[in-house]
Amino acid sequence: MKTIGIIGGMSWESSLEYYRIINQTVKAKLGGLHSAKCLLYSVDFAEIEVLQHQNKWKELTNVLVNIAQKLKKGGADFIVIGTNTMHLMADDIENKADIKVLHIADVTGEKVVAKGIKKIGLLGTKFTMEGDFYRQVLKDRHNIEVIIPEEYEREIVHNVIYQELCKGLIYQQSKERFIKIIENLSSQGAEGVILGCTEIPLLIKQEDVRIPVFDTTTIHAVSAVEFALA
Ligand code: GLU
Repeated sequence: MKTIGIIGGMSWESSLEYYRIINQTVKAKLGGLHSAKCLLYSVDFAEIEVLQHQNKWKELTNVLVNIAQKLKKGGADFIVIGTNTMHLMADDIENKADIKVLHIADVTGEKVVAKGIKKIGLLGTKFTMEGDFYRQVLKDRHNIEVIIPEEYEREIVHNVIYQELCKGLIYQQSKERFIKIIENLSSQGAEGVILGCTEIPLLIKQEDVRIPVFDTTTIHAVSAVEFALA
């Protein structure tokens, strides 16, 4: 079994899910007392969030490269970045820390393609929805067409992520807003929706909407175990 190096704490609400799902998956696959070999480096998200909203991506890249180097020294065989947004610097982390990064959009793209879906809606932070780094992986590596919500809807999704979900606050009103946004994407032709923020699965479940949802936290965590055991 390879050792998984998790860059977490963005936010810890979702890192908890990663840790749980990774261990449950190892147990399901190997049985008995088996559990995952992993290292979790958990940041202070307040420090990270400030830099994100100041668009200080170079500084953030240095922070994450440094953490990946520490995880590598500690024995990690590959890296799982426990947030969609911070895949913005996935290539830099892989190259500068010289360690494989299991890309969240790549493993999610595989699942979307496996369902025969060609056009998908994407929810996440504004950085993830509006930037190229995430959509490009889905388009270039998996030939998936990605559509995103309207600007006012992106604002809602972004604010709910930072002001509620990352603080562990789950509100019915926000759930209803997200469901409406997903319905709008569906009426624009989205055959499914990527929950492209690792906290959104705390709010939206498959049973809440009619189109297939792709829970990036679960997909990424399960893929990490499959990679660790391959
Ligand atoms: N966990 C979220 C994501 O998957 C947002 C937090 C962050 O900005 O890293 O994008």
